[in-house]
Amino acid sequence: MFKPYFFILITFFYCFYSQAQQPKKPTSSEIYQAIEKLNFLGSVLYVAAHPDDENTRLISHMANEVKARTAYLSLTRGDGGQNLIGPELKELLGVIRTQELLAARHIDGGIQLFTRADDFGYSKHPDETLAIWNEQEVLSDVVWAIRNFQPDIIINRFDHRSPGTTHGHHTSSAMLSMKAFDDAADHSKFPNQLKSVAVWQPKREFFNTSWWFYGSKEKFDAADKTNQYAVEVGDFYPALGLSNPEIAALSRSAHKSQGFGNTGTRGSDFEYLELIKGDAPTDRNNIFEGIDTSWNRVNGGQPIGDILKTVQANYNFKNPSASIPKLIEAYKMVQKLENSHWKTIKSEDLKNVIAACAGLFLEAAAASHLATPNSTVSLNLEAINRSSQNMVLTSITLSDGTRIQKNTDLKFNESHQFKSQLNIPSTASYSTPYWLETKGTLGMYKVDDQSLIGLPETPKEMTATFNVSIEGETLAYEKTIIYKTNDPVKGEVYKPFEIVPIVSSHIAEPVIIFADSQQKDIQVIVKANQNALEGYVQLDRPQGWRVFPEKQNIAIINKGEEQILTFTVIPPKNQSEGVLTPKVYIGKDVFSKKLVEIDYEHIPFQMVLLPNESKVVRLDIKKKGENIGYIVGAGDAVPESLRQIGYNVAIIKPEDINAETLNRFDAIVVGIRAYNTVDALKFKQKQLFDFVEQGGNLIVQYNTNGDLIVDQLAPYPLELSRDRVTDENSEVRLLNTTNELLNYPNKITQKDFEGWVQERGLYFPNKWSKEFTPLLSMHDKNEPPKEGSLLVAKFGKGHYIYTGLSFFREFPEGVAGAYRLFANMLSVGKETIKRDVQLKD
Ligand SMILES: [Zn+2]
Repeated sequence: MFKPYFFILITFFYCFYSQAQQPKKPTSSEIYQAIEKLNFLGSVLYVAAHPDDENTRLISHMANEVKARTAYLSLTRGDGGQNLIGPELKELLGVIRTQELLAARHIDGGIQLFTRADDFGYSKHPDETLAIWNEQEVLSDVVWAIRNFQPDIIINRFDHRSPGTTHGHHTSSAMLSMKAFDDAADHSKFPNQLKSVAVWQPKREFFNTSWWFYGSKEKFDAADKTNQYAVEVGDFYPALGLSNPEIAALSRSAHKSQGFGNTGTRGSDFEYLELIKGDAPTDRNNIFEGIDTSWNRVNGGQPIGDILKTVQANYNFKNPSASIPKLIEAYKMVQKLENSHWKTIKSEDLKNVIAACAGLFLEAAAASHLATPNSTVSLNLEAINRSSQNMVLTSITLSDGTRIQKNTDLKFNESHQFKSQLNIPSTASYSTPYWLETKGTLGMYKVDDQSLIGLPETPKEMTATFNVSIEGETLAYEKTIIYKTNDPVKGEVYKPFEIVPIVSSHIAEPVIIFADSQQKDIQVIVKANQNALEGYVQLDRPQGWRVFPEKQNIAIINKGEEQILTFTVIPPKNQSEGVLTPKVYIGKDVFSKKLVEIDYEHIPFQMVLLPNESKVVRLDIKKKGENIGYIVGAGDAVPESLRQIGYNVAIIKPEDINAETLNRFDAIVVGIRAYNTVDALKFKQKQLFDFVEQGGNLIVQYNTNGDLIVDQLAPYPLELSRDRVTDENSEVRLLNTTNELLNYPNKITQKDFEGWVQERGLYFPNKWSKEFTPLLSMHDKNEPPKEGSLLVAKFGKGHYIYTGLSFFREFPEGVAGAYRLFANMLSVGKETIKRDVQLKD
């Protein structure tokens, strides 16, 4: 079913609640702003690549000062970023960042849109980006967004003319936006879309430049800006008590998983726009010049504009409901207009303003936050009119088709509460992000339903529509069914009402590594989402792997309870990998999805259904040495990964770094970015180097070069650079094939560099003293070979190894070659090795 209005009605009233899921209850001043907005018929589409790329000052200014419909089209959902608030990564991080963008738009008054492009990680050049994204599909989605949203003005965050100077996703976003500006108006482009949308020609396109494109604020201040449009964005909104940059800062601070807390400023400030397409406005202060943004742009709209101007002029801040009769008059006239984009938008806006003026509160709350298909849930319905405006609740229609006839007068401040039952049909879709329902590719989500493309989240199917008659006109208010509860600490808490499968299951660990042929016990956790669940569980496994017992019964009495089953997994003799999938059989049905819950205070509770798979890897790996000391840096899962393959790993606190502690270990490993983040290491280099000199083995993982806390990273000169190899499939050449690190105890070959994820590595050294031996050479397309990814040096009786290879990314994904190479690094310099190598030579 095509529901164009989802595109339109995502945000209307500003919202400063910390819980984005609570219903908006606009103040009198906010209602006034919304009325002002009814009189502006113009729109702006801001385009960039990631959650957090958007310029919230400009979005807020456009939405709140200009009163334009303003949307941010983020090509991706930011899956490739880091998560500072919890363990979710990749697609689950994309779900969080989607919700953070929605929270940001609730604050700055914008609307949020996406494409199907996946944030697969860093790329240096748009050529690389567009080869991994499906360029035509992403372009199609930008065109789709333009044809749906119908922007008068498009603003790009990035410069389409500077490939290679920023993230490839960034430049690509601007390049695709430039192309889509023309394609959206062309009938021959993406003609399938024209079944549900018309072509659209935006009027002009700008590039929103900034000081960082000039290198520094000083250079930007000094730059010639005669070609640019300066937009004053330091507005102050008395109705909100906030400056525009203060709203923008609140919005930016919604990006909590990225740690983008921001402090607002006050006072005059400017954003700069360079015209890159369309005709140039002569008025440098009005980028909408030449675009009719009044009701005159709609055929027959002028009298509506006249009424709404009167409403605005006569608005009574003490009694907003006095505006309702005129607003209804305008609403009726809008209904008589021929069908158009603005008719749909302004009808909904008017309905919302009317409800806000009346203090009309309508809500449908389910008795539970979860339900399964083919079940019934109790609803608590509430309707109250807090104005003297006469109105009648004629009926309520539920999404299951139930029509509750009411004809109840909604008298001033008289609360009406009643109960009903909602049937969840057996065909109801599960609540889960629509873009994760089908497996996509590295660069693209797969979405089969065109009407969903671009939407920030899956439309909720379960609704209650309150039909309210006011001044002879029936207004239908569709409310998504929610769940709410009282928390003793937080007070009223809202949660989305979700449809889930009757059972879900997962294996405790997403990746299980077998370093030898020893069996391992794994736990399958089965959760019932209905009472009295009975059935059995079997595990699908790769060929050559064995699982005992073959199947296990489950019997769970209460909804919400879990049962834990232990299966024994026996790996094959040789290197092998694949996935284990628990399947839960209930009657004739089979369930093989896991249900992931994401629960943070700054975004609504999220439920995500994912394929229930754990990767199993049987490594062909030999190890020398057992006891590893780990010095934690910025945080990585390397210690757990090394434990999985049988090492004893102890975490060493910086204050415990001394000869006595270090000598207990076969090797010491320094975690990622430790020399950027752990100040105490400043004073520990000598102890670490002494340890090496005495025969120890020290492995240092990547650090960035900008904020090193030590002058001397290694016992010999070593300089970090920004060299990185982002193509995880780039060819790797072995430089010193006889070096023990590539031979003992595991013989390293090209095969060990297959199946790597996201990248090879980053911040490789580009200068080192002659004591270092480089072992690997690799590079991205069109770049010279880089030899600094893995360096080893003999120092005294021991060894120092520096590596920018991304072991911290490869280990959690079970990449076999990364484990084998690391095992060699840990083994370097053992007495036995030297003998062995000599014997071999
Ligand atoms: Zn970005």
